[in-house]
Amino acid sequence: MKTLKLHNNNERIPIGKIICIGRNYVEHAKELKSEVPKAPILFLKPSSAVIFDGEPILKPRISNDLQHEVELVVAIADTCKNVTESDALNHVLGYGVGLDMTLRDIQNSLKDKGLPWFISKGFDTSAPLSEFVPAAKITDPRNLEIRCAVNGTLRQQTKVSDMIFPVEKLISYITTLNTLERGDLIYTGTPHGVAKVVPGDTITAELVGYTNISHEIRDAV
Ligand code: MG
Repeated sequence: MKTLKLHNNNERIPIGKIICIGRNYVEHAKELKSEVPKAPILFLKPSSAVIFDGEPILKPRISNDLQHEVELVVAIADTCKNVTESDALNHVLGYGVGLDMTLRDIQNSLKDKGLPWFISKGFDTSAPLSEFVPAAKITDPRNLEIRCAVNGTLRQQTKVSDMIFPVEKLISYITTLNTLERGDLIYTGTPHGVAKVVPGDTITAELVGYTNISHEIRDAV
């Protein structure tokens, strides 16, 4: 079982379900030529897809278009259901950065057929994840900034305040449908600038000023 880690804390917390948000930044919806959603778009990744700093991202052979999506990741502190927006941030354990690695060619073909995205988003190593900064250290997550670079060249950068649905809205919306529990994660969506990576590339993702991860791309065997 994969576990998450908070900065300066030895407790290892089992990672539960991973809920991911699609199209949570206007410019990213536009670059995918997709509509800006009226409600959050949710999908799941398995916790077995998580890897940590330094572990390689393994590109499955079925794809020729592996892309990076840098995202703010929220870890949930406790069991909660039907949470109000004003109470939502009280249920956050910490904030980190992650990559929603995506097989874009496979995803587009599944979308065209109206089929689930799962295999394009849920494969092993598709969820690189940093350590978490305790929520108590972050007074307003809207001020956070995320970015990612490939081989040292900046590819994506945004302020979390540009999200269409901010963290408190996401938690409130999700918990109308799903109980959230300690160790569940929310990958909150990516800004524009998603692009292809190939074996040999190195991706770094950063929650600016707090934590970062670095991963080399390799072919899966
Ligand atoms: Mg994403």
